[in-house]
Amino acid sequence: MESKYFIEVAYIIASTLFIFGLKGLSHPKSARNGMNLAAMGMLVAVVGTLLHHEIVSYVWIIVGLLVGSLIGSVMALKVSMNALPQRQAISLAFGALAATLVGVAEYMRGGAELGSFKMTALGFEVLFGSITIAGSLIAFAKLQELIRGTPLTFKGQNIFNIALFTFTIGIFISLIFSPGNEIMFYVMIGLAFLFGLLLVLPIGAADMPVVMSLMNSYAGLASAATGFALKNNVLIIAGTLDGFSGFILSILMCKAMNRSMTNVLFGAFGGAAEEQQAIEGVQREVTVDDVAVQLAYARQVVIVPGYGLATAQAQHTVRELAETLEHRGVIVKYAIHPVAGRMPGHMNVLLAEANVPYSSLYELEQINPEMGATDVSVVIGANDVVNPDARDNPKSPIAGMPIIEVDKSKQVIVLKRGKGRGFSGIENPLFFKPNTGMLYGDAKASLSKLVQAVQQA
Ligand code: NAP
Repeated sequence: MESKYFIEVAYIIASTLFIFGLKGLSHPKSARNGMNLAAMGMLVAVVGTLLHHEIVSYVWIIVGLLVGSLIGSVMALKVSMNALPQRQAISLAFGALAATLVGVAEYMRGGAELGSFKMTALGFEVLFGSITIAGSLIAFAKLQELIRGTPLTFKGQNIFNIALFTFTIGIFISLIFSPGNEIMFYVMIGLAFLFGLLLVLPIGAADMPVVMSLMNSYAGLASAATGFALKNNVLIIAGTLDGFSGFILSILMCKAMNRSMTNVLFGAFGGAAEEQQAIEGVQREVTVDDVAVQLAYARQVVIVPGYGLATAQAQHTVRELAETLEHRGVIVKYAIHPVAGRMPGHMNVLLAEANVPYSSLYELEQINPEMGATDVSVVIGANDVVNPDARDNPKSPIAGMPIIEVDKSKQVIVLKRGKGRGFSGIENPLFFKPNTGMLYGDAKASLSKLVQAVQQA
């Protein structure tokens, strides 16, 4: 009785820590603290659970803890920042596998004796779990380039998927009324797994962050369902927090890209790109020395990091350039677009890794009013997030997406390797404007040369 009381108190403390942890994650400044609180919550929840009176042996639990901690630590230490999306995908698959296995174990224990409430909870658990395992594995394979990243489709796919989903739900409903039908239980799991595969295969690799945050949400809902099945309060609370925060994040990401969830999940994104009219004019190439002089004698410089900065791993070098300019009295600000890069908060994480002070980071709404008073904007490996077509051309595939208005600054310098397009696959008129200079080359190499040239300017 006493241990039960202790467990419930531990769960309340853990749930409170999860809530405060999540709150901390809503701001880059408090995010690290938020992570620590959430991790502490998880520790309290695990310790509480280990006191459960139904545990007959600790041997396998300890083996699991050791193996899991070892794999988790190696992954955390070894996986590079750039590979974080696929790391998250594989972790999600494991989390969902755990929930599904618990569901199967509970089903094996209860079988035909399961009441309709518990069967409903178990059904949701294994359904969400299997869809998440399959979807996350495909997301992992696409991001890791183990399979083609482009959408894999076949004729009538959406209709097939709807039929498959409806049939699976039909089995689920039949199981609520006759839980003893063991074969149907496993058929349902298999079909949900197949549905998860077919749901994510037609989605392009670049849209995976949105898909994963949706999968995260499903994994959370699977855990919440596990909580109902096991009458475990911390699972219900943590699962619901995870489920809804994942869902809200997916919506926010779609909103920041000005795309609907349906478009991400079922639309062939980039299809409209081929219809875009060719842009007349030429891109004006500039040299490192020209740019160094412009930067060294500017009053205010705004740096706009994008996906290319992440692929070039140029976060440390950009900080060096900013510091070199600041030593000369130049005001340097970083403009952070909400969907720059390939995952939410990508630029914040990258720049924090390089110890760029948080006070130098400006969000889109803060920096745009300052662009007119900016002497030079330096766009580093960013493309779509500074594309003026999103603002000026209602027919553009990215029309309506908010942008960082670098074109309003006096001079724009763009660091990119060549004439490659951005994630949306469309051309960017910014690169053809008379006040834009193109500094071609890998972002890290160009920035290193710029640091030296500014020091000598
Ligand atoms: P972007 O539009 O994808 O453009 C990146 C640019 O970086 C490319 O044009 C490429 O041109 C250049 N580049 C690549 N490697 C480089 C290197 N090593 N050195 C220098 N330049 C390099 O990136 P973005 O402006 O950051 O926009 C993000 C896009 O991703 C948006 O369309 C957004 O909607 C989408 N998205 C974001 C998220 C998220 O959560 N952040 C999720 C899903 C989708 P070159 O090939 O010529 O070098």
